[in-house]
Amino acid sequence: MTFSPSLRPWLLAAPLLGLAFGACQSGGTSASNQPDLLTANLDTTVRPGDDFYSYANGTWFKQHPIPASESNWGIGKEVQNEIYARLRKLNEEAAGAKATPGSVQQKIGDFWAAGMDSTGINKQGVAPLKAELARIQAMQSLADVQAAIAHLQTMGVNALIGPYVGQDAKNSEKMALQLWQSGLGLPNRDYYFNKDARTKNIRQEYSNHLVKMFTLLGQDAATAQASAGRVVQLETKLAASSRKLEALRDPYANYNKMAVSGLDKLTPGVSWKPWLAQMELGRADTVIVGQPEFYREAGRLLTSAPLDDWKAYLQWQLVHAFAPTLSQDFDNENFRFYGTILQGAKQQRPRWKRVLDAEENAMGEALGQLFVKEYFTPETKARYEKLTENVVASFRDHINALDWMSDSTKQKALVKLAKITRKVGYPDKWKDYSSLQIDRSSYAQNVMRANLWAYRYNINKLGKPVDRTEWGMTPQTYNAYYNPSNNEIVLPAAIFAIPGLMDANADDAIIYGYAGASTIGHELTHGFDDEGSQFDDKGNLRNWWTKKDRQLFQQRVNGIVRQFNDYTVLDSLHINGKATAGENIADLGGIVIALDAFKKTEQYKKGEKIGGLTPLQRYFLGYALGWQTTQRDERLAQAILTDVHSPAQFRINGPFADVPEFYEAFGVKPGDKLYRPDSARVKIW
Ligand SMILES: [Zn+2]
Repeated sequence: MTFSPSLRPWLLAAPLLGLAFGACQSGGTSASNQPDLLTANLDTTVRPGDDFYSYANGTWFKQHPIPASESNWGIGKEVQNEIYARLRKLNEEAAGAKATPGSVQQKIGDFWAAGMDSTGINKQGVAPLKAELARIQAMQSLADVQAAIAHLQTMGVNALIGPYVGQDAKNSEKMALQLWQSGLGLPNRDYYFNKDARTKNIRQEYSNHLVKMFTLLGQDAATAQASAGRVVQLETKLAASSRKLEALRDPYANYNKMAVSGLDKLTPGVSWKPWLAQMELGRADTVIVGQPEFYREAGRLLTSAPLDDWKAYLQWQLVHAFAPTLSQDFDNENFRFYGTILQGAKQQRPRWKRVLDAEENAMGEALGQLFVKEYFTPETKARYEKLTENVVASFRDHINALDWMSDSTKQKALVKLAKITRKVGYPDKWKDYSSLQIDRSSYAQNVMRANLWAYRYNINKLGKPVDRTEWGMTPQTYNAYYNPSNNEIVLPAAIFAIPGLMDANADDAIIYGYAGASTIGHELTHGFDDEGSQFDDKGNLRNWWTKKDRQLFQQRVNGIVRQFNDYTVLDSLHINGKATAGENIADLGGIVIALDAFKKTEQYKKGEKIGGLTPLQRYFLGYALGWQTTQRDERLAQAILTDVHSPAQFRINGPFADVPEFYEAFGVKPGDKLYRPDSARVKIW
């Protein structure tokens, strides 16, 4: 569990989106002698009207099976692989350089060297956690438990509560202390209660995992069993008072502002002011509680659960947080449960990649700064800024043309659209890591100090003006997001990469489908999905719709909820239409909006075929390229329970079935599996 300081929890599940890399990519060839990327990926034994996902990507999937060390594989992973290779080079150079102490290069080099020193790490065993484990073991009172929890928070351990500082949803000019439901060892509440065989097995394996971890901590068999039982019991109670995935998407229901004294009333017997002071948050006088019933239960457990339960629970959460940084026995057991049982991966990813992941969490922007300097040119940045502008213009046309929205709401929607801040590529201002200490003595302790640094970086925002220039993702992240409080889209550089295709050689159809629809149009639409549309142009949770327009919008949302509820994915698991509605709306919106932007290009107007494909066909294939990804059943099952995104297959087949031009481009007819009659097609934006 990594500590994520800058985003609201419901932003963390940001979309995994596909985009293309810059003209700086090595090994490019000229357009004329390069085989057409889209044609090469096709599986023409599948009819596009039956399963466009497999038609578009089938040959690629056959050529790129999921590696044993992965639970999914696809274009994003290929992009990531290139980034890993580049970052590795930067790290090895830094480790070998005689860098100035305190410089970014010294920190990168030492983080890498300590992380790669598996011999030293194995020798240390659990020693890096000794002091923390002893503190937990010595607890004698509720006050001690609270002090331990407070301390663990600052280290990035997922211990019971989840405090962070973020913009007040109803006043985006103010930073506010927020408390979100937290503290579970399984991915979310459903894992503690679902009755299907798959989940039951995971619960059993979770208990086994807990026993093994306690054994590794030195407990005898009987004690380890008892400790595991205590953890499961405590977490199950927390899970019972935790909200479901779809319930977390209601911004009003998850906004409960109160004085800190009000929090005391919610949790009789627990005094928050001194507790928050231990978390370096003593200056907070109000707090926004996401899920009051969770905190009521947490308070009840604090004052009633036996001390030994808390000892077991906190030791578990501590060792869980740092297991990947400890000796091989901890690392392997952690992987066995979280990698293999939960996600289906067969073997650990190479150590060097995992160290880079940890370094990304620790000081991602330091890496990003080096990364974009070498690999993201001003020309590429300009191309995607221009593309963003064109997609925004098309969105404007779409709003104007809506037949269900009144003029007064349209005016407000247009203002909101115009005010969306567009961050493309990388931040103008970088995080300053000068106060972060990194050395070669202990990998785990480097990670601990980095977590503490991130914790303080976040909570120090309380009472300060909002910094709207900040980025919540690094430029080397293959992803993007919309942040409603800033009314902004954030598009990291890495998302503009297509492996094996130089940016300059990519035709507009690919770029508009891959980047314009699946990322830019998608993120813009998030400002107008069922959740984002409740925030106004200034980023405040405030209604700007007429009642009638909101009803008509909701009817359309209900249509897409029904459409996706009908998709069965695995066993009896089907997509959660309500939980994924925002993403599905954004996918559909991105496709139709970027399509109309594409229709203004020369390529579309000329209508010439490339690789035997019309511009319109290439547009849809370009979009499908962004979802060129497959996953193991285990991971798919996890995604259904925890991810607000639909699986890749349905991010293509679902929205395409609603778009008339798709039928036109591929001659889709009644009887084809994806065919939906006109009356059933969803149209929102
Ligand atoms: Zn999204």
